[in-house]
Amino acid sequence: MAAPTTIASELERKDTKVPTREQLESRSPVDGSLLGTVPISTSADVHRVVARARRAQEAWGLLPIAERCERILRLRNAIVERAEELVDLLTRECGKPRHESLAHEVIPVADLIGYYAARAEKLLAPRDIEMHLMKHRRSYVHYAPRGVVGIISPWNFPFSITMGDAVTALVAGNAVVVKPSEVTPLIIEKAKEIWDATGLPEDLFQLVHGYGAVGAALIEAGVDKVVFTGGVATGKRVAQMCGERLIPCTLELGGKAPLIACADADLERTARAIVFGGFVNAGQVCVSVERVYAHAAIHDQLLERVVGLVSELKQGDPTKGDVDVGAITFGKQIDVAEKHIADAVAKGAIVRAGGHRRDGGGQFFQPTVLEKCDHRMTVMTEEIFGPVVPFMKVEDEEEAIRLANDSHLGLNAYVFTKDRDKGCRIAERVVSGSVLVNDVLTNHAIPETPFGGVKQSGIGRVHGEDALRDMSQARHVNVNRFGTTAREPIWYPYTPETFKWLLKGARALFGGGSILQRIGELL
Ligand code: NAD
Repeated sequence: MAAPTTIASELERKDTKVPTREQLESRSPVDGSLLGTVPISTSADVHRVVARARRAQEAWGLLPIAERCERILRLRNAIVERAEELVDLLTRECGKPRHESLAHEVIPVADLIGYYAARAEKLLAPRDIEMHLMKHRRSYVHYAPRGVVGIISPWNFPFSITMGDAVTALVAGNAVVVKPSEVTPLIIEKAKEIWDATGLPEDLFQLVHGYGAVGAALIEAGVDKVVFTGGVATGKRVAQMCGERLIPCTLELGGKAPLIACADADLERTARAIVFGGFVNAGQVCVSVERVYAHAAIHDQLLERVVGLVSELKQGDPTKGDVDVGAITFGKQIDVAEKHIADAVAKGAIVRAGGHRRDGGGQFFQPTVLEKCDHRMTVMTEEIFGPVVPFMKVEDEEEAIRLANDSHLGLNAYVFTKDRDKGCRIAERVVSGSVLVNDVLTNHAIPETPFGGVKQSGIGRVHGEDALRDMSQARHVNVNRFGTTAREPIWYPYTPETFKWLLKGARALFGGGSILQRIGELL
């Protein structure tokens, strides 16, 4: 059998993106200027980092949970203290508005740390299992750290996604090695600088840098769990590698969030939700509103209001004042958006707003609204990950639900109606990891709610109770409540007599008839 360690080197050869230089450059999406460089890790570096993390984890994992939380809270305080520094860098490296850098990157991490710090002791406490039959035994599950968790992250929320997963792993007693996106390596370097400055164990939280091959090398270096956030195609490769090593992986993949606007939706709220949900972070959100199914009764009015609101959006360099929509962090997404728009227009869609790269340089794409879209167009069926919102008119809510479910993805979905009960009924029929009624996007920032996809949007969940326990090995212990005897009735030797008693017992316990008849069987 081929040694699994050949996969990273294979990827390295195939990965045409790997440059000959050994530095990774981070460039401003606004003007292409060089913001900084980080060294690309070699496979040997990755192995060394994981080995150091493993040694650091041994002491960390033995600390009482409360002690770990107390230390992680110091990280939160430092993050909040240095929030503006983080916001400045996030805005320069990603091209996102400062407001978004603070509200969608820094604040959710601070909140998540507080959430877990206050609850981890309770959530990770041993859990008794009530025995339905063997009342003389006690069973319980206790949660032990897994070891070293590898986190491979994307560029769209390079701080909040990465640090959210890292904190969850650390609170559960693990060490963490992060492979951030090659597009935005600097922000997580800043996080590491803050980590080190708070006096937390240096090797407990480490970084490796590079392209996909470095992510693959991290999986090969013997980590005990992988949390991957990225595209579906990459997620499949990561799952394959984890499968070969039989290590668990959480996969947070792409989305194609539908928004169902019912006939009785609040028009103004729905229009504003579509504009925010479609264009925040320039549409580079896995839960962006990527398709609108509007009831025929309100479709035209809703569309007009959305187009009107889009015309009021300010787009531009977020480092030079308040803008609503910033740059496209990863330039290739502009080509993707153009390709989908061209396909839609060729098949009959009409561009109602935007539709083009912005003139004047920089990676900017106009907030775009399309009408007369349908499922023959890729704009309705494939993830765009850019500022494009296609509208489709539907005759009734049944059609909207059917179309919402006509997708290989299922991460987030949205339903707008004034009737909350109806909203929940529709929500339960949409096949999606989360469905929000009369709201968009916020669930990723709520630390207690499980976040993740169904279908090809992923496997596993981040946030909430389950994610913390998922960062742990659930180990079962079973013990006799009372004293023990020389042997259990089902142990050797097997005799006709023991068989007879076993059968009588089975009939008494599981046979039909009244309780008196069954007791009679025993006698
Ligand atoms: P990507 O899949 O290109 O890259 C993600 C990460 O994987 C990067 O760090 C990359 O270097 C690494 N990688 C690439 N090849 C690898 C390999 N063979 N082995 C291991 N690691 C490898 O994704 P992206 O372009 O950075 O991010 C955009 C995608 O992420 C979108 O599809 C978006 O929907 C998805 N996303 C999902 C969520 C979620 O929570 N579900 C959140 C944000 C983004």
